[in-house]
Order: sequence, then C-alpha cells, then structure tokens
Amino acid sequence: MSTIDTLPPLREVIEEHGLAAKKALGQNFLLDLNLTSRIARTAGDLEGYDIIEVGPGPGGLTRALLANGAERVIAVERDPRCLAALSQISEHYDGKLEVIEGDALETDWETLVTRKAKIVANLPYNIATPLLTGWVGSQNWPPFFESLTLMFQREVAERICATPADKHYGRLGVLCGWRTHATKAFDVSREAFSPPPKVTSSIVHLEPKHVPLPCSLKALETITRAAFGQRRKMLRASLKGLGGEALLERAEIVPTKRAEEIDVEGFVRLANAL
Ligand code: SAM
Repeated sequence: MSTIDTLPPLREVIEEHGLAAKKALGQNFLLDLNLTSRIARTAGDLEGYDIIEVGPGPGGLTRALLANGAERVIAVERDPRCLAALSQISEHYDGKLEVIEGDALETDWETLVTRKAKIVANLPYNIATPLLTGWVGSQNWPPFFESLTLMFQREVAERICATPADKHYGRLGVLCGWRTHATKAFDVSREAFSPPPKVTSSIVHLEPKHVPLPCSLKALETITRAAFGQRRKMLRASLKGLGGEALLERAEIVPTKRAEEIDVEGFVRLANAL
C-alpha cells in the first residue's frame, strides 16, 4: 500500500484554493507527506476504526490517514475555505472522507461514530487543551475512542505526560495519568509547518485505561485545582478550605507535602476522601 497519493502537492492545493493561513484559526499547516504519514502511523492500525480528525485544513494529515488504511475519516473543519480541497480528497478516496463544517468545541463526538474510534489531529493550539480535557474527562468510560494521537505545543505535551517532581507536573498530568497512558511520541520542529509557529511541537499518543482507579472526576478536579493553585504551599495550607489536615489524614497523605510530590493514586485518595 503506497502511503503517498497521486493528488496534487499541498502547496498547489493551498494556492489553488486560496488557503492563506489564518492565525485566529490556529492554522499552521503540515506540507510534508512523509511527516503526516509518520503521525498517521503513530496511531497504529487504522483499519476497523472510525477515524476522527479535528481541523483537516488543506488535508495533509487527512490524506496520510487515508493512504495508511483508514476506512472512514470524519473530519470537523471550521474554515469553509477548506471544503473544496477536502471534497477532492473525498472523491479520490471513494467517499471514505466525510467532512463536517463546524466548531470542534461544539461537536458531539459520540454521535458521529458507529464503531470504536481513533482521534488523530494536528490541533489548533488555541483549543487543544479544552478538546483534550473534554475527551479525557468524558462522562462515559471506557470512552468511545481507542486512542488519541495529537499535536500540541511541546510545553503542553510535557504537562500531559508529566509525573511527580517533574517541573511540568500539574492538573493536566494528574487528569491524563488517572485515565490514560500518555506518551510523547516525537517532537516536530517549527520549520515543518507553514507558517512556522513560535515554538517546537510534539505528538502525544494517549490510550485510555479501561479501569482507572475509581474516583469522581468532579472531586478530582476540585482537589487538583486547590492543590496546584498554590503549588508552593504545603497541602495542609492549600487544601485548608476543603478539610485541611483531617482530609489529608483520611487520604493518608503527609500534610507537609506539596502538590507536585503527590502521585495520581494520592490525588485519587484525596478526591475520594473529600
Ligand atoms: N490538519 C491540517 C494540517 O495538519 O496541516 C491543519 C492543522 S491546523 C494546526 C488547525 C486546523 O484546525 C485548521 O485547519 C483550522 O481551520 C481548524 N480549526 C481551528 N479552529 C477550529 C474549530 N474550533 N473547530 C474545527 N476546526 C478548527
């Protein structure tokens, strides 16, 4: 199976359809089909899944997903200028690509899929974190997706994969560590994008834990917000409003510890003690 298709080069597509990048839409396009193919491969087997892509833009990653065996790609794009280019891809791949013009933040993902899904996207940075927390914080668990393979700014990628004592460890690391196995797959340099963003990016691959430690998401959020909101303070001070030392004792956590020293299991105990 060839992973490079016979459609026109992406630079030509962008030129032909007048897709000058818009900053407000977080448009930093990937033009190298070898790189988009590497991202698609990071998602593992694509056959047998519905693939969701957020923000296909001119379609570089979309084409790689289809060329790497995706049988159904559902792509949500907010910029109507991209639709004509995307419909050419859909035609080339016998309708395996379905494009929805809309806002990813308003999308009800579960209604779009008919079988287990994989989400693969070069996300617009301004909405990357809310999209991730929406997926990882899904009410239904195990969730509708089998994996998430996503591009973030490197600093956000490090926060997602961080563990205690790591300077990037915080609320995002606890949430993702509670419900998923998250790993950074590889970095992508600024020059790989058109136009280049200000910072290096990274691909993160997350797989849901089928049985995360039992805990209420709301309680976990309340605890981590308070604990990391004042991360330099000892927990007996930062968690004072939530029960302070008595709460810490119930969760078997030493009250002089700081948030960054507590692992996911510790936060789960605190959330359950709340
Ligand atoms: N996938 C393309 C690529 O890799 O070259 C484009 C990625 S670009 C970083 C982000 C894409 O998300 C753009 O096409 C942009 O128009 C789209 N986008 C921005 N905000 C969006 C939103 N709220 N909902 C859906 N798509 C959005």
